[in-house]
Amino acid sequence: MRTVITGGAGFIGSHLCDYLINKGHEVVCIDNLLTGKMDNVVHLMGNSQFRFMKHNVSDYIYVDGHVDNVLHFASPASPSDYLEFPIQTLKVGSLGTLNSLGLAKAKKAKFLLASTSEVYGDPQVHPQREDYWGHVNPVGPRGVYDEAKRFAEAMTMAYHRYHHIDTRIVRIFNTYGPRMRVKDGRALPNFMCQALRGDDITIFGNGLQTRSFCYVSDLVEGIYRLLLSHEHDPVNIGNPEEITIDQLAKEILALTGSKSEIVFKPIPVDDPKIRQPDISRAKSILGWEPKVVRAEGLRKTLTYFKDVLSSGGKTI
Ligand code: UDP
Repeated sequence: MRTVITGGAGFIGSHLCDYLINKGHEVVCIDNLLTGKMDNVVHLMGNSQFRFMKHNVSDYIYVDGHVDNVLHFASPASPSDYLEFPIQTLKVGSLGTLNSLGLAKAKKAKFLLASTSEVYGDPQVHPQREDYWGHVNPVGPRGVYDEAKRFAEAMTMAYHRYHHIDTRIVRIFNTYGPRMRVKDGRALPNFMCQALRGDDITIFGNGLQTRSFCYVSDLVEGIYRLLLSHEHDPVNIGNPEEITIDQLAKEILALTGSKSEIVFKPIPVDDPKIRQPDISRAKSILGWEPKVVRAEGLRKTLTYFKDVLSSGGKTI
């Protein structure tokens, strides 16, 4: 198997590179390092199963030789990243998806799109099932990510229906684990680094908004099972255990034993109030459900952030 992973030097992409290399795949990792980091794949350099190409997939993608799978994971994915890079986010979700699908078509390869729970926007249905069409503000600041991913799903289905490409769509819910950046901007890495440094823990809004956090190894296993399945419609992959952001902050404070104080900051525009995946389809189609409980996942992630911060925060 020869698999192209766009965004392969990112948080999730790099875990996928490791997972597939362990399964015996040859991996071609394409990343322009806008939010991805060489640190995430440096251990694979020199491995004959691994090749790195520094390239922006919003431009035409050239890969020589045969390809069996194209996994499109390139995109800024943290709200602070897509606010900083709105045009790049729109381009990689639209042009990047088009180019990745074009590569899959040219190579007669399977295609898997990394989509997102953000397609549900600020949801009015709870928990979110795949047949819910969502509640997205196209002109708000989050629209650049949400609409790009919705367009990417539409493009993927068009290539499936019109060009008969063998496609998959995974809707990824909040995921965490080692290789998140210190400056990622999302709640979990922010809270961990703030707690470890003794800085204030910044809760946006009143902290009663909810999320459901999936450990990265569970996510990658679900994605692999989806790749092996014959399912063309979107599948949610996430951990259905829902908590408030306030509870997340308190769990991290307890775990670190930090004396950091919680401070409240303004809630970002269009910040979803609730989020929880309905994973019935993943369970029945893929026989998948998450295995790593939050206490364990948080401990492993904390160990990683401790190492990064004590080495001077090299992976920012
Ligand atoms: N959040 C927070 N403090 C932070 C970063 C995020 O309270 O330092 C909140 C954010 O407003 C949202 C939730 O935590 O309600 C999860 O945000 P995150 O950026 O992790 O991801 P999202 O699920 O919104 O994409």
